[in-house]
Amino acid sequence: MSDGTSSAGREIVVVGGGIGGLTTALALARQGRSVRVLERADGFTEVGAGLQLAPNATSLLRDLGVLDAVLDAGVVPARMVIADARTGEGLVSADLGDRFVKTFGAPYVVVHRHDLLDILLRACRAADVALETGKDVVGCVTIGTEARLTCADGSEYAAHAAIAADGLRSSVRQALHGSGEPVASGYVAYRGALPIEQVERPHDLDTVISWVGPGLHLVQYPIRRGDLYNQVAVFKSPSFASGNPDWGGPEELDAAFADMCPAVRVALPSLQRSFRWPTYDREPVDRWVDGRTALLGDAAHPMLQYLAQGACQAIEDAATLARSFAIHDAAGADDGGVGRALAAYEKVRVPRTARVQRSARVWGDIWHIDGTGALLRNELFRGMTDDDYSYADWLWGWQPPTG
Ligand SMILES: Cc1cc2nc3c(=O)[nH]c(=O)nc-3n(C[C@H](O)[C@H](O)[C@H](O)COP(=O)(O)OP(=O)(O)OC[C@H]3O[C@@H](n4cnc5c(N)ncnc54)[C@H](O)[C@@H]3O)c2cc1C
Repeated sequence: MSDGTSSAGREIVVVGGGIGGLTTALALARQGRSVRVLERADGFTEVGAGLQLAPNATSLLRDLGVLDAVLDAGVVPARMVIADARTGEGLVSADLGDRFVKTFGAPYVVVHRHDLLDILLRACRAADVALETGKDVVGCVTIGTEARLTCADGSEYAAHAAIAADGLRSSVRQALHGSGEPVASGYVAYRGALPIEQVERPHDLDTVISWVGPGLHLVQYPIRRGDLYNQVAVFKSPSFASGNPDWGGPEELDAAFADMCPAVRVALPSLQRSFRWPTYDREPVDRWVDGRTALLGDAAHPMLQYLAQGACQAIEDAATLARSFAIHDAAGADDGGVGRALAAYEKVRVPRTARVQRSARVWGDIWHIDGTGALLRNELFRGMTDDDYSYADWLWGWQPPTG
């Protein structure tokens, strides 16, 4: 068993090396703590698709010293547009330029997931985080003042604290909360990125555009310095409702979008059809901490993607956790500081993420509504000005408490 000691304080083990896990490892390592990441996969990888990072996350990436690299790898779009997928009408536009940055203190950035993970990985290496792959954590218990972790290969680790950032189907969460499958939304996502020169609407290339329609939407934006165009098509699967276990196939994708406007339909052939992402969330829970273990990211609060906030919330978790450790466990000693730090983290993050989880469901309902509801939605959107950010203040203006 690793003895879990170091000159900078006893080791904190992070389970899972996704965006949440690596951001957490980096934030804790920046405080001079000894941190180890155990990742189940054989490498640190992310799906080949884009990610939107709102200022509630980019401001924290700046604090961690990695925002410049993210800006360099990504794109700062000029605006965000919501359009009617059926008629092609632009309904509302939000300016993401100087006024936006002045309001929120940080930019809106869109980036390839690989690029973000790579930036975090490099920063973790530079901060001396121990990074291990092929480590499937199958057990995590608190014994005395230690978290004890067991991996499928028989290796064991003793830690000052264990942070479970092991995603939607977290085994650590399973142990904490017992059985409980994620909630399937019945919606499925198809993604794909294509070279920017192949895009047929060159006038929109500096825009995050969401085409909304009955039971479906399509999101498009440029990534990788504008070299690639990211597209995500999402629709409600008819065969999910009828209990088909293999729901959401490509033939349903084509049928769902068949009556949409040409600008939307033209995106479909360039989506990757061999792989699809059924979407899930969970009901919020108010207990993330057990002894020396705490949940983080999708393991704690998986949400539907309609607010583009799952990774942003994981980044907020990471920053809040690190601040809680700095306040309550500055010495890294066994004087109860870890318990106070984890409790403070849970207290701040549970209500915040529960609100985002619930709001994501509502936002999805608004996007996917049909009939009279859609007429009213469109009228409401048409009445909004492009510099009115008040509806998103609560979401994009959030900062972790400092005391
Ligand atoms: C279609 C779609 C679009 C999205 N768009 C956005 C967006 O624009 N903006 C945004 O902020 N969010 C978005 N999200 C949400 C975002 O992708 C997730 O919330 C985020 O990636 C979660 O990160 P995580 O690190 O918590 O979990 P994960 O990315 O799932 O990482 C978990 C890691 O833990 C590892 N692991 C699992 N089990 C074990 C184990 N037993 N032992 C060791 N390691 C383990 C996994 O291999 C993985 O590397 C979107 C989601 C979807 C589905």
